[in-house]
Amino acid sequence: MQDWKLVEKAVELLLESLHLKGQGFEGTPGRVARMWKEFLDIELPNPTICKTNEEVDLVMFRNHTFWSFCPHHLLPVKYNLTVGYIPNKGMVLGASKPLRISNWITASLPLQEDLPGMICKEIEHSLNPAGTGCIVQGEHLCMRMRGVKSPCSDMITPLLKEGMRKEPWMSLFLFGTNYKGG
Ligand SMILES: [Zn+2]
Repeated sequence: MQDWKLVEKAVELLLESLHLKGQGFEGTPGRVARMWKEFLDIELPNPTICKTNEEVDLVMFRNHTFWSFCPHHLLPVKYNLTVGYIPNKGMVLGASKPLRISNWITASLPLQEDLPGMICKEIEHSLNPAGTGCIVQGEHLCMRMRGVKSPCSDMITPLLKEGMRKEPWMSLFLFGTNYKGG
């Protein structure tokens, strides 16, 4: 369980060590603690699963934007996700679920390279589909505003699993329809 009072104290200590003080910083420790609470304190509702009447090859969601922080610098990362799965015997997930999964997963501040695998695993766990795949595009402020200072670069991490790998048209579809410049 997170200790929000301790987060507040840590921010106080950070400001003190950096000699940052004055009117602008009044109430900052509390605000920062509340910001982290808003970001980290999210729950994953139980999945709604239903059966379709007709066949469908692929269920895919595009252009879901969500935010996280990188674990190395604690700087914001803006993600764009396209995710899809192949239904097994007509079973499908509630439409918002794959997107809620990604919001919930980022609360552990994963590396972008781990995100596609974590998202696909959670969908497999909820639904047992015949295949999953996703592509994550990340705009990392730690690369854009500091370090290498590359303000337009982004990172792309695709993953195709099981049945999706055996269907080349699906991967083309998934990858081809995603990219949306940063
Ligand atoms: Zn970073």
